[in-house]
Amino acid sequence: MSDHYNLYSLKHFAGIIAECMDLPLPETFAPSVGWISAILKQRLNGTADRVVLYHADAVGHHIWQKYTNLFAPVYQHTSLSVPFLSTVESVTPVAHATMYTGLDPEGHGILTYTRPQLTCDTLFDVLIRAGKKAAIVAQADSTFLHIFKGRALDYFEAPNAVGVQEIALELITKDEYDVISIHTFDYDNAAHAFGPESKQALNAVSLEAEGFHRLAEALELYRGQHKILLTYSPDHGQHPVLGGTGAHGSKMIEDMNIVHFFGTI
Ligand SMILES: [Zn+2]
Repeated sequence: MSDHYNLYSLKHFAGIIAECMDLPLPETFAPSVGWISAILKQRLNGTADRVVLYHADAVGHHIWQKYTNLFAPVYQHTSLSVPFLSTVESVTPVAHATMYTGLDPEGHGILTYTRPQLTCDTLFDVLIRAGKKAAIVAQADSTFLHIFKGRALDYFEAPNAVGVQEIALELITKDEYDVISIHTFDYDNAAHAFGPESKQALNAVSLEAEGFHRLAEALELYRGQHKILLTYSPDHGQHPVLGGTGAHGSKMIEDMNIVHFFGTI
């Protein structure tokens, strides 16, 4: 049996989120995947008014296939998992630009590992126009802090995933933001240094999944008060390199296939 690329492009991500919030989608954006947003809106019993998007960098589909148990903390708070296909190249700025602009790389212009401030319409711009308050919480030097800068958003940073999770927890508890986008890359760092399936890397998968679980528990306190959408949404995977390290950016299945989780509260 040969390997297969997953069906859905990451460019549908912004459309799915916008559709769940009943926000108007710019013409440049790829549409939502109708059945996904329909199921989520049904489970929300309406429109999401609080959204938390957790981006664990470089956690690939093959890691989920082989170490499914590590995702138990994510399963606990989500009800839908969908395979997605990363971008060419399969690197963070290209993939996250596609996720938040609804455009293929040729459309937003980030084709390789460069991090210019995006000038085209992003999900954040849609949120701002709709009067929503949004925050980015990310590890220092995160791609989010480069390509999405210069907007009426609040930007927070911390040196590692746990620090990011602490800030996000505080923001969720204060209940002041409509949308919080979170980017951590402890797994990406460990997988590059020690290999995608190294003990260090798999520990980081757990650390990021457990952080997601803690954030979801904080969101649970608002059950009935808000309609909440939360997602666990990686950007690309990583493949092992001879000598024990990890890399990505190629069209290999390990780099391209990822899986996203969606939950409603
Ligand atoms: Zn990387």
